Amino acid sequence: MDFEALRQVMVETQLIPRGIADQRVLAAFRQVARQEFVPADIRSAAYDDCALPIGDNQTISQPYMVAVMTKLLKLKGLETVLEIGTGSGYQTAILAELCQKVYTVERLAPLSQKAKETINKLGYRNIEFITADGTEGFQKAAPYDAIIVTAACPSIPKPLTEQLKDGGRLVIPVGDTFQQMLTTLTKQGDKFSTFESVACVFVPLVGKYGWKPT
Ligand code: SAH
Repeated sequence: MDFEALRQVMVETQLIPRGIADQRVLAAFRQVARQEFVPADIRSAAYDDCALPIGDNQTISQPYMVAVMTKLLKLKGLETVLEIGTGSGYQTAILAELCQKVYTVERLAPLSQKAKETINKLGYRNIEFITADGTEGFQKAAPYDAIIVTAACPSIPKPLTEQLKDGGRLVIPVGDTFQQMLTTLTKQGDKFSTFESVACVFVPLVGKYGWKPT
C-alpha cells in the first residue's frame, strides 16, 4: 500500500475541510507515519477516518481528533509538553514534531514499551516515556507549557492544573464514560478560564484523580 499517498489524502479530506488550518499542525500530519502505530493486521486501515484498536482494550484516536487537540495546544516550537495516555504513541510523535520536549505518561507498561519501540524506530529523540498514573501529572519535569490528556476524565485532575505554567494550556476530554466535551483550560495567574469545543468519545482515564479501576 502507498501509505505516503494515503497520508496526504487523509490531510486533504479529513483535516483541511474540517477547519484544521495551522500549517505547522498540517505539516506534522503529513510527516508522521501513522501506519507504524497501528497493529500489523489492521495496518491497511491506518488512514481511515476513525479510531482503531491497539490492544489492551485501548485505541489510537481518529486522526481528526488528534488534530483538533493538537491545534488547541497552539504550539510554536519551544514548548515542554506533558501528555497523559501514550497509547500507541501516535499523538506523542505529532507533538514531538511541534515542540521541544514531550513527557508522555501511560499507566499500562506494555503499551508504553511498544510505543517507545515505535518512536525509537522513527528516530525521535525529544520524548521521555513514563509508566505511571498520569492523573497525578509528572512533577519531576513540571511546570509545563501545555498538557494534553488523551483519555476521558470525570473532572479536571488538580495536579495537572498545578503543573501548568502561567499562561499554559490544558486540553482534556471531560464528561462521563459514554461522551465527553473537549475542554481547554488556560491558566492566568491563580485563575483559570475554560472553554468547550467538540463532543468526543475517549477511553476512560483510570487513576487517583480519574475513574476508579474496575
Ligand atoms: N493518544 C493515544 C490514545 C490513547 S487511548 C493514541 O493516539 O494512540 C488512552 C490511553 O490512556 C490508553 O493507552 C490508556 O491506557 C491510558 N490511560 C488511562 N488512564 C491513564 C492514567 N491514569 N495515566 C496514564 N495513562 C492512562
